Amino acid sequence: MLDKQLERRGIRDRRVLSAMAEIPRELFVPESVRAQAYNDEPVNIGYGQTISQPYMVALMAQCLELTGSETVLEVGGGCGYHAAVLASLAAKVVSVEIVPELAEEGRRNLEAAGFGEKVVVVAGDGSEGYADLAPYDAISVAAAAPAVLDKILGQLTDPGRAVIPIGSMDEQELVLVRKSQGTTTSRVVTRCRFVPLRGGGGWRAG
Ligand code: SAH
Repeated sequence: MLDKQLERRGIRDRRVLSAMAEIPRELFVPESVRAQAYNDEPVNIGYGQTISQPYMVALMAQCLELTGSETVLEVGGGCGYHAAVLASLAAKVVSVEIVPELAEEGRRNLEAAGFGEKVVVVAGDGSEGYADLAPYDAISVAAAAPAVLDKILGQLTDPGRAVIPIGSMDEQELVLVRKSQGTTTSRVVTRCRFVPLRGGGGWRAG
């Protein structure tokens, strides 16, 4: 996975590569899809949701340029794998997941993999961020938003970085937002396909 899926496509951050090498991805997916855990594609984890493709997790983590001291907000925690990668690159991760069963599964997986202390899993709607533990040095949104999420970006420190898939329900662009000295800039990193962000700041689908 490291060589074929990540390095050849431009993942260069050594810390991201070693986190992805060390974290057992198969422990985060349901037993029925364990054989597909390292496939170069999203894999179904139940409840109509997926675990992101390894390359996408690596690319999003690399965009955040984490050094180890940061508090990171993840919106769309799913089964917890992406949160584990972020936790091994930063000091603390707050991971919000809207499907209560998945939040519970994510929490269990993260504990079993030894990340219980570094990751706070919150069951609820993260489409407007999570104000109780804000601000965040970095924000990673793992579900597709209809537009830039101003409420979430209001919880970002200055300087700070956020990655958010923005577009329609079927197709999006991964946008990297940078806040620095009071100015916010953004650029498109790549095209992508995520499941829709639900809830108040998302598509409201419930
Ligand atoms: N980060 C995960 C990706 C999970 S897919 C990984 O490691 O692979 C995206 C997740 O976002 C789904 O589990 C979905 O239930 C969740 N989601 C969708 N809308 C949400 C919202 N408003 N708040 C929190 N989670 C949300």
